[in-house]
Amino acid sequence: MTSVWIFAGVLVLPPAMTAILTATLYLHLGVRSWYRLQKTPVWRTTNNAAVLVLTSFASYGVLAMFGVHGMGGAIELGWAGAGVVGVTMLAHFVANALLVIPARNTIARTVKGLFGGPMDNMLELATLCLGALNALTLAIMPGLTVLVLPPLLILHRGVLVKQLEAAATTDAKTGVLNTAGWHNRAEVALARAQQQSRTFGTLMIDLDHFKRINDTYGHLAGDEVLRAVATAIASEVRERDLVGRFGGEEFVVLLPDIGEADVTAVAERIRIGISRLEVDVPETLRPTTIDDLSASIGVAMYPDAGGELQRLLDAADTALYTAKNNGRNRVVRVRDLGVAEQRLAS
Ligand code: GH3
Ligand code: MG
Ligand code: MG
Repeated sequence: MTSVWIFAGVLVLPPAMTAILTATLYLHLGVRSWYRLQKTPVWRTTNNAAVLVLTSFASYGVLAMFGVHGMGGAIELGWAGAGVVGVTMLAHFVANALLVIPARNTIARTVKGLFGGPMDNMLELATLCLGALNALTLAIMPGLTVLVLPPLLILHRGVLVKQLEAAATTDAKTGVLNTAGWHNRAEVALARAQQQSRTFGTLMIDLDHFKRINDTYGHLAGDEVLRAVATAIASEVRERDLVGRFGGEEFVVLLPDIGEADVTAVAERIRIGISRLEVDVPETLRPTTIDDLSASIGVAMYPDAGGELQRLLDAADTALYTAKNNGRNRVVRVRDLGVAEQRLAS
C-alpha cells in the first residue's frame, strides 16, 4: 500500500525525491520486518523498492510525454489534466504489474500467481486512487492531507484481515492448504457435488521412504523436498483443485467435476512428476541434488467410495496402504482393491 505515498510523490515531487521517498519507505518496512516472527528477506525488500522506483520513472515518462508538470500542471489544464493523471495512474499500474513478473516467476507460473487475483488488483487500483487524491490535496491544501489517513488505515485493516485469513488456512512450510483450510473448502466442494449430483476424486499422496531423506540429508533438506513436491503437485492440477498437506509428508488433493479415468490420469501425472523431481539442497560442505524421489497414491471417488469426506479419506488411505504394500511408487484406486480391503475401506 506504499503506492499511496509513492504515486502521490510522482505527481508532486521531482523523480530523485520520489526515489529517496521510496527508499525511505522500504527501509522503514525492512527494519519493521526485522522485529517480526517471519522476517522478509532483505533482497525481497530491496527488489520491491527497486521495482517501485522503476515504476515511478515509467509514470514520470508518461507525464513528460503529455508535457504535464505534476499535479500543479494538471490542475491548470482542467479536464485534460485530469485525463492525464488518470492515464498516468493506469500506466503506473501496468508498469508495476509487468516489472514484478521476473520476481514472481520464480515462485508461480499461473496467471493468478503472476498478476494476482481480482481483489489484489482492485486493492492496488484503490491505493493508486488514494495516491492521486493525496497528491491533489498536497497541491491545493496540504493541511488536508491528514484526511487521507483514516481511509488508508481502514483499507490497511481490511488487507491485514485477509492476510490473516490466508495464513490461518495455509501450510506455512509448503504454501498449500493446511488441514483446516483443506477441510473447509472440501466440505463446500462435497456439498456442491451432492446438490448437483456430480462426482469428484480424492487423492492421498505419501512420499516413499521419506525418513531416509531426513536421515541422509537432514531435516532442512527434507523440508526443501516437501516444498518441491507441493509445487509439483500444484502444477499438475487445475487452479480450482484443492491441494493440502495434513502435516508430515502426506498430501491430499480434491479434484471436482471429473470422472475416475481423468482423476487416475492426474494421479499418474503427479506420480511421474514427483519421480522426475530434482531438488537442489545446500549441504554444509557441498551442494547435493536429490533425484530419487517417489510417492504412492491412493485414489477414492465420490460417491462410489463414500458419501462423506472422512469416509473418502479413509478409503483413499486404504488404497494408499495397498500401494505401499505392493512396492510403492504407484497409484492404486479403491476400485482395484480386493473385496476384503474394499469392505475395510468403506
Ligand atoms: P513410507 O514409504 O512407508 O511412507 O516411509 P516413510 O519413511 O516416508 O514414512 P514414515 O511415516 O516412517 O516417515 C515419515 C517421516 O517424515 C518421519 C518424519 O521425520 C518425517 N517428517 C514428517 N514431517 C516432516 C516435516 O515437516 N519436515 C521433514 N523434514 N520431515 C518430516
Ligand atoms: Mg511416507
Ligand atoms: Mg506418512
